[in-house]
Amino acid sequence: MPHWLHKEPVTPFTGPLRHQARLVYVILTLMAAYFAVIGTINVFVFASYTIAALDYAGMLGMLAVLYYFHYSRRLMHTSWLVVMLLIGVILVFIHMAEGRSYSLIWVTLLPPVTFFLLGRRAGAWVCGAVFVYVAIYVYINMPRWEPAEFTLGTFLNIVEVLAAHWLLFRLYERSRAEAFAELELLSETDKLTGLYNRSRLDSFLLHEIERHHRDNRPLTLILSDIDHFKRINDQHGHLSGDRALKVVADLLVNHTRSSDICGRWGGEEFLFICPDTSSAAASHIIGKIQQALSVAELPHRTAVTLSFGVASLGPDDTAEHVLRRADDALYQAKREGRNTVVTAADRT
Ligand code: GH3
Ligand code: MG
Ligand code: MG
Repeated sequence: MPHWLHKEPVTPFTGPLRHQARLVYVILTLMAAYFAVIGTINVFVFASYTIAALDYAGMLGMLAVLYYFHYSRRLMHTSWLVVMLLIGVILVFIHMAEGRSYSLIWVTLLPPVTFFLLGRRAGAWVCGAVFVYVAIYVYINMPRWEPAEFTLGTFLNIVEVLAAHWLLFRLYERSRAEAFAELELLSETDKLTGLYNRSRLDSFLLHEIERHHRDNRPLTLILSDIDHFKRINDQHGHLSGDRALKVVADLLVNHTRSSDICGRWGGEEFLFICPDTSSAAASHIIGKIQQALSVAELPHRTAVTLSFGVASLGPDDTAEHVLRRADDALYQAKREGRNTVVTAADRT
């Protein structure tokens, strides 16, 4: 193996890299299959054995790169190998066909492949260089070429390239949509607890308030805060504090209904948005949480309690109003000695 191939560090494929790696796998497999099919067509339909040999060489090249990628996991090296192999096969094919039968159309595969695999910068350079080369080649040979005649070979070149474009763009679009969905999930969840983050809670709240005003159905917020959480950090360290937060977060999710929205409002503070729920029904949910918390197994066998502030949305209430009332109620619960529930008076 050339020594420059050893330089790329082997990193696990996470996030966008995972998509890129899958793209490489699929492109390599597709290309190997493509070359095999086209080579076979060239043997049995056209009896063009030299072009078939080129196709089979392309297929073997792709399989070799696939093997290399599978064992080395070097994404960038593999991407360059794929691009160079593809350029080599396409240019040799165009030269062998002397530019006839729409063989030139194969270079249109380069933009999707080079940009997807090499990125914007290298993709633009490599693709641009090949396009300039092909333009010069066409310009030089133009005087010798006769008006194109349309043969079965021409037809197949066009159909094969169209099919390759269809597959490549479909694959790329799927990859892009999945990456976008992952990013969206990341942008709306809290990394430590996996709960919705504050910004997602804000948008849920606006949506639910709108629904409440439209359908006139009850909506209750529960704001809760872990009591004396600082002590856990101080006594057992920040990492234990993190683990305790995760245990509490899991417990909260497991003890709320699927229609309730639960998220991390701040450090050790959680917000529940409970649609179609009155303050009385919210007390029932809180009772279940307190019961579960009293028997929960936390790191270092620490006992954790929560204080709760409950507020229901009144007529003309905005998000800010109802949040302030829930926060005031929570503050009151802390003053009353913690591990307790205070419900703000309903606004009428
Ligand atoms: P109180 O009962 O009045 O709520 O007391 P408290 O100690 O829970 O409240 P305080 O606001 O004094 O401290 C909150 C602590 O929560 C301080 C902060 O370091 C800790 N905290 C906030 N976010 C995290 C986190 O992500 N991980 C850990 N380990 N600790 C956190
Ligand atoms: Mg606290
Ligand atoms: Mg707090």
